[in-house]
Amino acid sequence: MKELLETVVENCRDSWRQGHVATYIPELAKARADATGIAVWDLSSGLSGAGDTDFTFTMQSVSKVVSLALALSECGEEKVFSAVGMDPLADPFNSIMRLEMDAPHRPHNPLINSGAIVVLSLLPWKESRDRMAAVSDMAARMTGRKAVAVNEAVYLSEKGTSDRNRALAWFLKSVGNLEGDIEDILDAYFRQCSLEVTCGDLAVLGATLAADGTNPVTGERVVSPRVARVVRTIMATCGMYDGSGEFAVTVGIPAKSGVGGGIAAAVPGRMGIGTCGPALDRKGNSVAGLAMLRRLSEELKLRIY
Ligand code: GLU
Repeated sequence: MKELLETVVENCRDSWRQGHVATYIPELAKARADATGIAVWDLSSGLSGAGDTDFTFTMQSVSKVVSLALALSECGEEKVFSAVGMDPLADPFNSIMRLEMDAPHRPHNPLINSGAIVVLSLLPWKESRDRMAAVSDMAARMTGRKAVAVNEAVYLSEKGTSDRNRALAWFLKSVGNLEGDIEDILDAYFRQCSLEVTCGDLAVLGATLAADGTNPVTGERVVSPRVARVVRTIMATCGMYDGSGEFAVTVGIPAKSGVGGGIAAAVPGRMGIGTCGPALDRKGNSVAGLAMLRRLSEELKLRIY
């Protein structure tokens, strides 16, 4: 496996040139654009990695998988999916237009910004601090780490430049679809996006979902098999922004990307995969990550469809 991953990284290393690091959160613009790494947690043989496996980045939207898993476990499917839909969207992840146009103004799925903000608001903790502690605890349990810390510089940078997410949240409140202290919920959202990981952490997170909710590193049952299946399904349909359909055809496995450059993927019953590469395509997906996953899926016949 290690040899295969080294070849995959070698072949895809240059693809970063076709993308750009995110700049709308100023701190993200400082990321090393050419970092390229991949890790696989194979459920039968454990961890292998290649390339920049020590490179750290913030989870950004990959964290939405964590808060969704937590909300489904704490509140149940019925409550979560009466507040947010489960359908993919052909608009950008932070689109305001679609939310306003489609009555009843419910976010289309839990993996776009508006949906993730609503999911956070459902968690049964009132204060941002407690909500965030529960999300970072879930991130630690899914990645098999003792703790996953917030990158304070990225958190402050997003908090200071988040007019669009604020607009989404206040619009949702105005139509009665977001309850609670809006600034407090947004604070927890910015913090969860700033959780810092490596591609190895994302491989374990993916493997936890691939193993029906049991973390293969710690042996802990983190979520139920049903929650793991629902999360994988939402990843498969909505995880790669408005590129989810193309990703399903070209790679064919449940995955979630984030604008920090990470992608976590889960191949049911087989493996979790984590990639990093901060240069993004126009939709917000890591170009190196896409290239590596395409290649790996081809080599190992990972497609689930
Ligand atoms: N924190 C980012 C935002 O809210 C997350 C976006 C992403 O990774 O898709 O814009």
